[in-house]
Amino acid sequence: MNTSSALTLQEIQDFKGKYPKQLWYLFFSEMWERFCFYGMRGMLVLFMVDKVVGLQMKDDAANLQYGATQAFVYAFTFIGGLFADKILGFRKSLFWGGILMIVGSCILAFDPHNFFFLGISFTIIGTGFFKPNISTMVGTLYKNGDSRTDAGFSLFYAGINVGALLGGYACVVVAKEYSWNLAFGLAAIVMTISLVTFIFTQKTLGPIGLPPVLEKNKSWYEYAVYIGSLGLIPIIMAMVSKTEYTDWFMYIIGPCTLVYILYEMRSFSAAENKKLFAALVFIIFSILFWAFFEQSGGSLSLFAASHLTDNVMGIPLDPNGVNNSSNSLFVIIFAALLGMVWIWMGKRKIEPNTLIKFGLGFLFLAAGFYIFYYTKFFADANGVTSLNLFTFGWFIITFGELCLSPIGMSIMTKLSPKRMQGVMMGMWFLASAYGQYAAGILGAGMVNPNENATASEKLVSYTDGYYQLAIYALIAGLVLIIISPFVKKMMGEVK
Ligand code: GLN
Repeated sequence: MNTSSALTLQEIQDFKGKYPKQLWYLFFSEMWERFCFYGMRGMLVLFMVDKVVGLQMKDDAANLQYGATQAFVYAFTFIGGLFADKILGFRKSLFWGGILMIVGSCILAFDPHNFFFLGISFTIIGTGFFKPNISTMVGTLYKNGDSRTDAGFSLFYAGINVGALLGGYACVVVAKEYSWNLAFGLAAIVMTISLVTFIFTQKTLGPIGLPPVLEKNKSWYEYAVYIGSLGLIPIIMAMVSKTEYTDWFMYIIGPCTLVYILYEMRSFSAAENKKLFAALVFIIFSILFWAFFEQSGGSLSLFAASHLTDNVMGIPLDPNGVNNSSNSLFVIIFAALLGMVWIWMGKRKIEPNTLIKFGLGFLFLAAGFYIFYYTKFFADANGVTSLNLFTFGWFIITFGELCLSPIGMSIMTKLSPKRMQGVMMGMWFLASAYGQYAAGILGAGMVNPNENATASEKLVSYTDGYYQLAIYALIAGLVLIIISPFVKKMMGEVK
C-alpha cells in the first residue's frame, strides 16, 4: 500500500470551501460498501424463508437469525474500531475489511445454500473492520470545533444512502428476477469497486489513518490481528447459526466494553470523562432507536412480502425493494434540506441542541410506526394493504433518522478524546448491534404464532406490534427532551 504522506494533517484540515476533497473519496468508498451491505440486508430474511432454494426457515426463526446476524455485524465494528486505534490504523483496517467482505460475498455467490453462514461470517468481520473506521476518518478531516464537521457528516451520510438505495433495491430485485447467486455476486463486484476506490485515493489522506507507531518488538501484532480475525470465522459461524449463542455474546460484550471504557477513563481529565458519559447517553438511546428502525430488514420485510400492493402512486414497484430502499431515497432528498433548516434556525439562535434533535428523532419514529399500524385500516380481504401509506411511513421515519444517525456519528468524534475515537465510534455502532439484536426479538414476537392464521390475522399481528413500538418511541422521545438540560452540562463546550 502506498502510505507516502505528501500532505500534512494541518494542510488537510485547513481546506478552503465547504468540504475537504478527501471527503468525496471516502464518500464513494462508503457508498459502494453500503450498496453491498444493504443489498445483503434486504436479501437475508427473504433467503432464509425461501422454500425453494433458500434455507426454508419459519418466519419467527428467520427474524431471530436476522437480528443475530446483523447484531454481529455491528458488534464487530467495536472490535474493528479498537484494533484500528491500537494496531492497524484506519487505512489497513479498511483494506482488510474490504477484502474479507469481498471473499464473503463471493462465497455466497458461489453457493448460498450450503455456505450461507460461512459467507455471512466473512462479511460480518469485514464490515467490522471497514465501517467504523471510514466513519472516524471523516471526523479526522476536521479540526476540533470546525463548524463544517456536521455538514461533512451529512454529505457522507448521503453517500451511505445512495449506496443503500441502489443496492437495497437492486439486490432484492436481481434475487427475485434472476437468482440468489447473481444477487450475492453483484454485492461482491460492488465491494471490489469500493476497495479499489479507496486504494487509489488514499494517498491524498496524508498521515490520516496510518497505524500508530508500535514498539519494535510489537510489529507482529498486525499479523496477529489478521490471523486472529480469520480464526474467529468458525466461532462466528457457530454463534450466528445458533441464536442462543448470540444471546450469550450480547450479554457479555456490552458490559465488557463498558468496563473497558471505564478503565480507559482513569487517564482522562474530569471534563473529558463527563463528555464520555454524555456520549454513553446518546449511545444508549440509539439502541432503542435501531431496535425499532431495523424492523426494516426483519419483520417489515416479511410484512412487505405478503401484505403490500405493488405500486407507489401508480408506479409499479417491488414492495420489498421499496421497504429496503425508500428510506434511503428520502434521506438523499431531504438531508440537505434539513441541514438548511438547522442552519436557518442556528442563525436565529433557535437551533435545537443534539439531545433535543435525538428526542425529535424518536417522535418522528413514533409517528412513522403509527402509520405502519394505520395501514391495517386500508387492508383488503386478502390482508393486502397500501404500499403508498407504507412508503409514507418511511418518509416520516427518515426525518427521525436524520435527527439522530448522522448527528450521532459526528457527536462521537466530538465527545471522544483522540485516543478513544475509533473505540467510541465502534461503541456507537455496538449500540446498533444491540438494536439489531432487539429488532430480531421484537420482530419474532410480532409473527402470528398460528401458522394457519388467515392473511388478515397475520397482518393484524404485525400492525399491532407496530402500534406498541410507536408508543415506546413516543415515551423515549419525551424522556430525552426532559433530561436534555442535564446531559448538555456534561457535554461542556460541545453542542
Ligand atoms: N444507515 C446508517 C448506515 O448504514 C446507519 C446504520 C446504523 O448505525 N445502524 O451507516
